[in-house]
Amino acid sequence: MNTGGLRRGWRPLEEGEVAERVKSLLSRTGFQSNGVYVMDGSRRSGHGNAYFTGFGNNKRIVFFDTLLKQLSAEQVEAVLAHELGHFKKRHIIKGFILSAAMSLAGFAILAWLMKNAWFYTGLGVEQSSTYMALILFVLISPAFTYFLSPALSWVSRKHEFEADAFAANQSGGRHLVSALITLYRENASTLTPDALHSLFYDSHPPASIRIRHLEEIDHGAA
Ligand SMILES: [Zn+2]
Repeated sequence: MNTGGLRRGWRPLEEGEVAERVKSLLSRTGFQSNGVYVMDGSRRSGHGNAYFTGFGNNKRIVFFDTLLKQLSAEQVEAVLAHELGHFKKRHIIKGFILSAAMSLAGFAILAWLMKNAWFYTGLGVEQSSTYMALILFVLISPAFTYFLSPALSWVSRKHEFEADAFAANQSGGRHLVSALITLYRENASTLTPDALHSLFYDSHPPASIRIRHLEEIDHGAA
């Protein structure tokens, strides 16, 4: 195994049932990775998570040791399958594109507003300038982003359900359900098993809804 450039606090995942299940899941789903690692979770409070790092063929899978301690081998597999679901459905790249598109749209709206006298007068400002336009825009934009947030939450939930469905089909929904229950119980503040996803979205479906969806998938497949 390539351990060159191994980060501090990381060690390769030792042989055993978890390693066997991970290997099998990766080959089943055609996921290329450059090693599976365990990270000392005490460096990051009690959060039980798994994530990917790197790009292309240099991707590495990292489990927090707390996750491996809290979950059974089947549950670890199901959590990883959920992460793979995000990857396979290109959720991360979609998140990047969405936020880039929203920034561009914001700048376009700003450029348009700047050219209109009513933008200034409507907000009680007499003289128009780029400087004033920026200040006014920063002041009024929360009103618009407020109305956008339900749409963003909807996208986020949709992605979570897609990743859950992927995991249910690859590893069985009931293992993900029991993993979710354990993780929610252990980390009251972490409402999702993946940290990577929370970097882009801060809204996640409640556990109860995810569990109901997973049970429906399992019953449908039975
Ligand atoms: Zn997720």
